[in-house]
Amino acid sequence: MTLRLGVIGTGAIGRDHINRITNKLSGAKVVAITDVNEEQVKRVVKEEGLDTKICKTGQEVIAAVDVDAVLVTSWGPSHEEFVLASIAAGKPVFCEKPLATTAAGCKRIVEAEITHGKHLVQVGFMRRYDQSYRLLKQTIDNQQIGEPLMVHCAHRNPSVPSDFYFGDMPLTDSFVHEIDVLRWLLDDDYISAQVIVPRSTRYTAKNLQDPHIVLLETTKGIRIDVELFVNCKYGYDIQCQVVGETGIANLPEPMSVLMRSEAKLSTEILMDWKKRFIDSYDVELKEWIDSTIKGEAHGPTAWDGYFASVTADACVEAKKTGQIIPISIPKRPDFYSKK
Ligand code: NAP
Repeated sequence: MTLRLGVIGTGAIGRDHINRITNKLSGAKVVAITDVNEEQVKRVVKEEGLDTKICKTGQEVIAAVDVDAVLVTSWGPSHEEFVLASIAAGKPVFCEKPLATTAAGCKRIVEAEITHGKHLVQVGFMRRYDQSYRLLKQTIDNQQIGEPLMVHCAHRNPSVPSDFYFGDMPLTDSFVHEIDVLRWLLDDDYISAQVIVPRSTRYTAKNLQDPHIVLLETTKGIRIDVELFVNCKYGYDIQCQVVGETGIANLPEPMSVLMRSEAKLSTEILMDWKKRFIDSYDVELKEWIDSTIKGEAHGPTAWDGYFASVTADACVEAKKTGQIIPISIPKRPDFYSKK
């Protein structure tokens, strides 16, 4: 069977996903597409050589009878509307993060999915599909370092545009990936967040803070510290070290040739976040397509999207107040219990 997809949003990530579905992955085909930017959607259809109908709105894409499942890659504030409409239509939906731009919006999606009674929503937290993170998780799950006690992480970008700071984006947009992947890695939930603000780099936009240190505590008492530094200049660098009772496990570095040259021993550091996770996007979409064809639930759920949003809100509050903010969330509904 070929899964017939409707795509809402043909910007940067939408176009990348369309390209991988059309040219790289098997099992799916884009049959309907839309974007509020009409010129852009026409250009993408032409340049990607798609044989697909262009719809006027996302709602039209979702309602199309030949659309089996929906890919939401429009800008964040539109996600809730399209995910809710997909659930109402009973169609599986892959939604890029964020699931919704507020915790209340994520909760409405969780409630709608539970009421519908079938898992339909997957959120685009692609780090869970990265081979390095998967190896690290295997090491932890196999008890090779005993029980995890502490986690030290760094999320560093060479630079970000000044409008990136709108709405605390380092915390809500970048850090949200750490929030999801660490919760998955440790199979644990967070109970509190604290944000420490060190001396700011002169390379950040005027009057805007960078870096941050985020401290999270989990229900099992694991302590996590994450350095979030989005103008670090030297590269895109994701670090994660898990300290267990009997050993330490580090996230593998991206593969790179070790060079001896000009009196230096060196390896390349990536500058572009896309290159770091390029393979994980392929694996993420392929596994979603395959599981959707089988009618099985798979990957980060609406509940995971909701938990990430509540945690990100707590981090923003912690930064604003300088306080340790408790993360309180209702008990995980049975509908989302792990199998
Ligand atoms: P983008 O380049 O701005 O693309 C978004 C597109 O959606 C734009 O063409 C926009 O049109 C269109 N759009 C906005 N509202 C719409 C609506 N109601 N109906 C149809 N189209 C609409 O943004 P992007 O970088 O692709 O990001 C899209 C989403 O993916 C964001 O939520 C982002 O956080 C997420 N993302 C995730 C990852 C990841 O690593 N998982 C990476 C990148 C992005 P206009 O430009 O005309 O408004």
